[in-house]
Amino acid sequence: MLEISRTSKTMALLRVAFLALFLNILVARTTQHSTSRALEGDQVLRLHPGTPEAVAMLNSLVYMPGFQLDFWKPPSHVNQSVDVHVPREDVPAVLDLLQRHSITYHTMIGNVRQAVEKHMEDNHKARARTAGRPARVNDFDFSVYHEWNEIDDFITDVQQTYPQIATLSSEAATFEGRAIKTLKLGKPSTSGETKPAIWIDAAIHCREWISTATVLYAIDQFTRQYGTDPTVTRLLDELDWYFTPVFNVDGYIYTWEAPENRLWRKNRSTQPGPCVGVDLNRNWDDHFAETGASPDPCSIIYHGMAPFSEPETRGISDFVLNHPEIKVYLAMHSYSQLWISPWGYDYARPPHYHLQNAMALAAESASRAVHGVQYRVGRSIEILYAVSGGARDWAYDKAGVTYSYTVELRDTGRYGFLLPPDQIIPTAEETFPAYLTVGQWILDHPY
Ligand SMILES: [Zn+2]
Repeated sequence: MLEISRTSKTMALLRVAFLALFLNILVARTTQHSTSRALEGDQVLRLHPGTPEAVAMLNSLVYMPGFQLDFWKPPSHVNQSVDVHVPREDVPAVLDLLQRHSITYHTMIGNVRQAVEKHMEDNHKARARTAGRPARVNDFDFSVYHEWNEIDDFITDVQQTYPQIATLSSEAATFEGRAIKTLKLGKPSTSGETKPAIWIDAAIHCREWISTATVLYAIDQFTRQYGTDPTVTRLLDELDWYFTPVFNVDGYIYTWEAPENRLWRKNRSTQPGPCVGVDLNRNWDDHFAETGASPDPCSIIYHGMAPFSEPETRGISDFVLNHPEIKVYLAMHSYSQLWISPWGYDYARPPHYHLQNAMALAAESASRAVHGVQYRVGRSIEILYAVSGGARDWAYDKAGVTYSYTVELRDTGRYGFLLPPDQIIPTAEETFPAYLTVGQWILDHPY
């Protein structure tokens, strides 16, 4: 059960705590100088709530209107750490609140602006090695993060280089009118029968750059090894693979524009009021707005005006519904190192739990064999947090995709979303065999 105590004593404590917090924030904000740069002096704290009351208090902060803390890792269970980005002006109030509730913490990132700049500089330096090269199949540098136009050029070149197994389509559009590109890999069926298919998307949360980088690496491995490696050849002969390396294209472009945009998560659609964007992974038509999502347009987990209010989720969900041959749905995210199966909104085990769990364990084991890096496997509500209106649960509940997962890639929080480029290749290397295992599983098991 959700460890939220509903005793009146707790509620009274919470009311006092919130009042104190608001007053502190008010004082802090009125004394603050407005000359600071965005993110300068902001901190990311790792909190260790040790009681149900502490979890409940942190949970209430997630939904408190007008107070926008960005929970990189939201509160879930007692003794499960919580990561939160706290704006500089709110740091004293938050620290005070933690102390009042006896919540221990340590500082993950002492100055978010500095960390973002370092991350972007590291990537810029690494990119200098291959500067000026076109984003082509044989020149593409998988060890750095790439801008959208380079990714677009690369997948276009993949299609042109391997026309016998690759097709590129844009079935959905973004709020700003860009095409969401999907690359399909697989040998065309000669019998006329539709092959089982696997769907893999990345960067629905656009700051999770490692998810995109990992998918690009996999596309390259699949195409290069086709015809030489027997496993890869069989998996492309007998299955179709749909890769969408950037789901949230508008947001992804935005994260590249300036350091202060690097940590943007939502899409870029205009909303009532001053705030922009919907959390595209809360906007799906499945238990919409029930839990782990906010009705506040300024919240980082804003679910939108209605299910599928956003063109991105509407377009991709239509595509998935029109392709019932899709048997696996992998939504690639970061961070925390998890393979997460349904559901996020209910503690009950789904009817296909045993199959879902067994496939995830097999994939994780293939992944761990590469560099010894461990990912936890489990249901969303059990190992992550309560959430509804997400792609994974929708694909399982509404599109009938038995094997539907969210995969959280590296790391476990040292860098969080700002994973250095030198971890891209290792992360991609351990994820590719997991994809092969998933494909093999579909050939060998019921779906
Ligand atoms: Zn995510």
